[in-house]
Amino acid sequence: MDAQPSPQKPQNISRRQAIAATAAFAGWGLAQSVSGQSTKNTSKASHAFAPPMEGDEYALPPLPYAYDALEPAIDEQTMRLHHDIHFNGYRKGLNKALNELKGLRSGNGSWDMISYWENQLAFNGCGYLLHNVFFANMAPKGSTRPSKWLQGEIEKEFGGMEGLKNHFSSAAKSVQGSGWGVLGYNVGLQRPVVLQVEKHQDQALWGVIPLLVLDVWEHAYYLKYQNKRGDYVKAFWDVVNWDDVAARWEAASHPA
Ligand code: MN
Repeated sequence: MDAQPSPQKPQNISRRQAIAATAAFAGWGLAQSVSGQSTKNTSKASHAFAPPMEGDEYALPPLPYAYDALEPAIDEQTMRLHHDIHFNGYRKGLNKALNELKGLRSGNGSWDMISYWENQLAFNGCGYLLHNVFFANMAPKGSTRPSKWLQGEIEKEFGGMEGLKNHFSSAAKSVQGSGWGVLGYNVGLQRPVVLQVEKHQDQALWGVIPLLVLDVWEHAYYLKYQNKRGDYVKAFWDVVNWDDVAARWEAASHPA
């Protein structure tokens, strides 16, 4: 272990504490919502998963666990680079794009740049949003398990956990180039879907709220797994934070 604060031992914390801790780290006010136990007392999704702010700018949420807490599935060096450098880069890019677009509206700069900044907004905005979910979606191996409620929801659409895992893993493994496997709840279609996203924004679907996302850009796994993306995808399932997935699913499918 390094100098980072160690996560509490999984056997010593309750599900409610785990969710509260996850929510607190990211500035998410999920205190009232505990998935699988209540479907009534749910915060509005837009508030429950609001990102942390620094003034008017989007901030970088700290990891809710130590950098080495996900080993051996994901190694410490990858986590440091991925969270501190790559994730932060998308955050900066999002803030920059928003500021530049605000400037254009104020008469600073040229509307000739509109397509460039809209592209930057979509790319970095989607990158920031997905990384927010990705790091919160994980927890030390064995610290959470799918609740009965979550298992029921998965059963309804995917025929069970194996159906979801096979679908999601196949999508993630076969992304062309850089992208994501995404399990999301589509509020327009009122159902969960699995998407195969390229870059951060391509092949998305309007109305999808991400529930469980897996980054398959090379920066997410290449130090440890090199070209073996499939091994990384398989190991990911060991460190899924099912409490976080359930909280997002509940908030998306039962908006207050
Ligand atoms: Mn990434």
